[in-house]
Amino acid sequence: MAETTYDVAVIGGGPAGYTAAIRAGQLGLKVALIERESKLGGTCLHVGCIPTKSILFNAEVYDHLKHAKEYGIEGVGEVTLNWKSILDRKNQIIAKHVKGLDFLMRKNKVTVIPGTGSLTGVAKGGVHTVSVKGTDGKATQVQAKNVLVATGSDAKLLPGLKADDRILTNIEILSLDRIPKSLVVIGAGAVGVEFGSIFKSFGSEVTVVEYLPRMVPNEDEDVSKELARVFRKRGIESHVGAKVDKVERTKDGVKVSFTSADGKPQVKEAEKVLVAVGRAPRTETVGLDKTKAKLERGFVYVNEWMETAEPGVYAIGDIVAGLPQLAHVGAMCGIVAVTKIAGRPSRPVKRERIPACTYCEPQIGSVGLTEAQAKEKGLTVKVGKFPFAGNSKASIVGQHDGFVKVVADAKYGEVLGVHIIGPQATELIAEAVTAIELEATVDELMFTIHAHPTLAEAMLDGFGAVENMAINV
Ligand SMILES: Cc1cc2nc3c(=O)[nH]c(=O)nc-3n(C[C@H](O)[C@H](O)[C@H](O)COP(=O)(O)OP(=O)(O)OC[C@H]3O[C@@H](n4cnc5c(N)ncnc54)[C@H](O)[C@@H]3O)c2cc1C
Repeated sequence: MAETTYDVAVIGGGPAGYTAAIRAGQLGLKVALIERESKLGGTCLHVGCIPTKSILFNAEVYDHLKHAKEYGIEGVGEVTLNWKSILDRKNQIIAKHVKGLDFLMRKNKVTVIPGTGSLTGVAKGGVHTVSVKGTDGKATQVQAKNVLVATGSDAKLLPGLKADDRILTNIEILSLDRIPKSLVVIGAGAVGVEFGSIFKSFGSEVTVVEYLPRMVPNEDEDVSKELARVFRKRGIESHVGAKVDKVERTKDGVKVSFTSADGKPQVKEAEKVLVAVGRAPRTETVGLDKTKAKLERGFVYVNEWMETAEPGVYAIGDIVAGLPQLAHVGAMCGIVAVTKIAGRPSRPVKRERIPACTYCEPQIGSVGLTEAQAKEKGLTVKVGKFPFAGNSKASIVGQHDGFVKVVADAKYGEVLGVHIIGPQATELIAEAVTAIELEATVDELMFTIHAHPTLAEAMLDGFGAVENMAINV
């Protein structure tokens, strides 16, 4: 019998789990965090958000340097890449943040328990037991009044495929020994287009193949069109509405056979292929089947406080049904759950208030309803669109592609959705999230002062565009 009964045991130390553990500690709860890897951070820190954004920053700097002369900077000579240094820098950033997490666990009195955790069944006398198998194969038992399952997700592969040195997922591609001459990316969601963008900047020949009829299919249709246009301009070949039939290893690389949208068979050979077709929840072996929790295709159903059908068992992060698989979503779900557990006022996560960011070039940031979604809901909307071509800071930073699109309720002008593609879109979107959270109207935002000259002024003009009153077009 375990001696300690925790208020909360969290299984999984990714952004959902570690954030929940920190907040639980701040709220004075006795908390254990169970993690099977030797380092905290999960997919996000080790093979997801942080390493990709680190390398995207290298790509951005490299792209600027290629045009150094245009900025009056001479003497740079021919710029070349050192892939090893790029990976070293990425690894240093990861290492720094792993240390930071260890510090935060100590600071917030979180007991970190190494090992693989699984629920042993339903609660007995209001206490759950989690079996934790250590690397030595020995199992210990952790007891807690509440358990948060935050085990994350794995990259999906196409049927019959196995990741190796040429058929890559986000894991293998982040430790390649050199930049590939050519890359086929299967899947034009955020992960696919980010890697496509990186390797195009680094000089690879990049082809993107997407099954759905448009790039970044979760975004507003106008954003998809603009991304396709800019990618074409950048020399990235893309095929949408294309079904991959076969991926084979050849003597030196890979061969991807697909049927294009017009039904024609196509073949693309490349040095590597990245499979970025979504992520599957890791819930098979975590013991949820021994509880009343309801799952579908591995995703866990929860109520607004992230509690499953098993009282005291919560699910957060990539394993939750019906929420986007994003680090900030998992983190906020963890905060919502532990705040509720602590008996403090908590606020459920609202689907339409979640920002989605894609850090390719050009960047994408969006929140709320797309124009099509608003119309499908039967809402009468007014739409405004302001191109970055009219923004003075966009001229200064030399990035004129893209726009800010605002979808607003026609009667009261409440902002329902904002869709940005262009410079710093992933930063600019924060204003729109706040506006939607505070149920702001276009009228209010049109009288909100935005500093000059900033990219944020494109937001002001975007809101003005809803009333056909953008200043700079
Ligand atoms: C290439 C890529 C780029 C991405 N970029 C972004 C981005 O820019 N922004 C964004 O918001 N999201 C991004 N994501 C998504 C983001 O990484 C995930 O949404 C996020 O990591 C999910 O957090 P999580 O805590 O649910 O799971 P994870 O981060 O997967 O963490 C789960 C943790 O649980 C541990 N674990 C699993 N099973 C057990 C067990 N039984 N016992 C103990 N421990 C266990 C794992 O080892 C892991 O540490 C990206 C993903 C990828 C693949």
